[in-house]
Amino acid sequence: GLRSSYEKSMEMATTDGLTGLHNRSYATSHIENLVARANKDGKPISVMMLDIDFFKKVNDTYGHAAGDEVLREFADRLRAQLRGIDLAVRYGGEEFVVVMPDTDEATGNLVAERLRLGMAEKSFDLDSTKKPLAVTVSIGVASSHGTDESAASMLERADKAMYEAKNSGRNKVVSDDVIGEQADNKAAS
Ligand code: GH3
Ligand code: MG
Ligand code: MG
Repeated sequence: GLRSSYEKSMEMATTDGLTGLHNRSYATSHIENLVARANKDGKPISVMMLDIDFFKKVNDTYGHAAGDEVLREFADRLRAQLRGIDLAVRYGGEEFVVVMPDTDEATGNLVAERLRLGMAEKSFDLDSTKKPLAVTVSIGVASSHGTDESAASMLERADKAMYEAKNSGRNKVVSDDVIGEQADNKAAS
C-alpha cells in the first residue's frame, strides 16, 4: 500500500486490533484532553461505560471465535451510531468507553438509550454460529458541565452507574445522577 510503515505502526499502537476502535492506552490521554477542553470552554461533556451482558456465556456456549465476532459487530454498531467528534474505545475485554463532547446529561442519556436499543432490538448474525444471537449491554453515563472534574473521576462515576445497571437487571442505562438522587433521598428520609 501507499502508507508508510511508520503510519501503520502508529495506527497499531493506538487501535484495538479486533474491533478497529481506539485502544485503552491511546484513549486515556485523549479523554483527559477532551474533558479538560470542555471544562475550559464551559461546555458540557458526557462519558459512557458500556459492558456487554453475560458475554462469558457466548464464549462458553459458542466458542471464542463467536465471542470475537460479537465484539466486532458490537463495535460496528457503536461506530454507526456515533458522531465524528465522539471517541469510541475498547476499554477492556467486553467493556467500551464512549466520550461525547458538547453533550449534556439529557442528550447523553438519550444517546446511551439509543445505543442500548441498537444492540437489543436486532439480533447478532454470526458466521460461526449460523444462529441469530440476542446480545444486550448495560450502560452507565456520567456528565459534567462547567466543573473542574477530572476525566478519571468521570470514568469512575460512569463505571459505578454501569454496575448499578448490572445490579438492577442489565440491558439498562443508568445515569450517575440517578444514583446521586437515590442517595440523597435515602439521606433525607
Ligand atoms: P456481566 O453481565 O456481569 O458483564 O457478565 P459477563 O459474562 O459479560 O462478564 P465476565 O467479566 O464474567 O466475562 C467477560 C468475558 O469476556 C470473560 C473473557 O474470557 C471474555 N473476553 C475478554 N476478552 C475477550 C476477547 O477478546 N474475545 C473473546 N471471545 N472473549 C473475551
Ligand atoms: Mg466486564
Ligand atoms: Mg460483561
